[in-house]
Amino acid sequence: MESVLKGQIALITGASSGIGAGVAKSLAAAGATVVVNYPVEATKPAADDVLKEITDAGGTGIVAQCDVSKEDQVIKMFADVVAQFGTVDILINNAGLQRDAKFDEMTLDQWNTVINVNLTGQFLCAREAIREFLRRGPRPEVSVATGKIICMSSVHELIPWGGHVNYATSKGGIRMLMQSLAQEYGDRQIRVNSICPGAIQTPINRAAWETPQALNSLMTLIPYNRIGQPQDIGNLAVFLSSDLSDYITGASIFIDGGMTVFEGFSTNG
Ligand code: NAD
Repeated sequence: MESVLKGQIALITGASSGIGAGVAKSLAAAGATVVVNYPVEATKPAADDVLKEITDAGGTGIVAQCDVSKEDQVIKMFADVVAQFGTVDILINNAGLQRDAKFDEMTLDQWNTVINVNLTGQFLCAREAIREFLRRGPRPEVSVATGKIICMSSVHELIPWGGHVNYATSKGGIRMLMQSLAQEYGDRQIRVNSICPGAIQTPINRAAWETPQALNSLMTLIPYNRIGQPQDIGNLAVFLSSDLSDYITGASIFIDGGMTVFEGFSTNG
């Protein structure tokens, strides 16, 4: 899929680690100029490393600091990117975190932190992206669609998750955010879709894969019998960002080694 994104500007939130880093590398390899977003100064070195890997491989991009839950920072990041590159063509709404607790012990701070980053952060970034797509209008020289937004959701927009109610709620909200935007802006040729990963090997879920026992237990949930890698998500992000998927909008695409076919029912439940 080399060059399918040539000439396009892609902004990836939370791209200094895990899935966001993998997606940034894949989009850059497909020809996009990438904006590697990171939230705070402490994560800048990791973002720099991601960008170095991209430029060493012949890609182009920049790093950009912004806490996606802060309106002023999101507005400034988009303004800076448009000033530097002229526009944005692709938004990967990826930044996310967990603050896990039993529901009866969950603090308001744990609830608000997850909703503010995972859901409000996606609202703020999608709003700036759509404002830019509408301002700029079509760019048929690079894509049939006027703009593309990909929301990083989760299998937990479908599978309820005790002990993680704030996280599951944020992902359920992303589903309606994504579908409502696809509905509202489809006639402006703006495509909005979600990627719903199962278990991908990243820092967010280290406890689920770092010991052989944890990994074995995880495999009971995954028919395909391996943990996913950021590259798996990167491949799908390239497809969903490109004209190869031009008739797909409003879709949640599950990429989970079969987690959502519910392995536990394979022997009669
Ligand atoms: P990760 O912890 O490596 O990545 C999350 C990224 O978000 C980090 O780079 C972090 O710095 C960034 N971030 C956190 N708060 C931010 C903020 N306020 N502003 C900007 N960036 C911020 O974990 P990951 O697995 O790569 O997660 C990426 C996305 O994928 C998340 O939305 C997560 O919910 C989703 N996801 C992950 C899995 C999985 O199994 N790893 C499964 C389903 C969904």
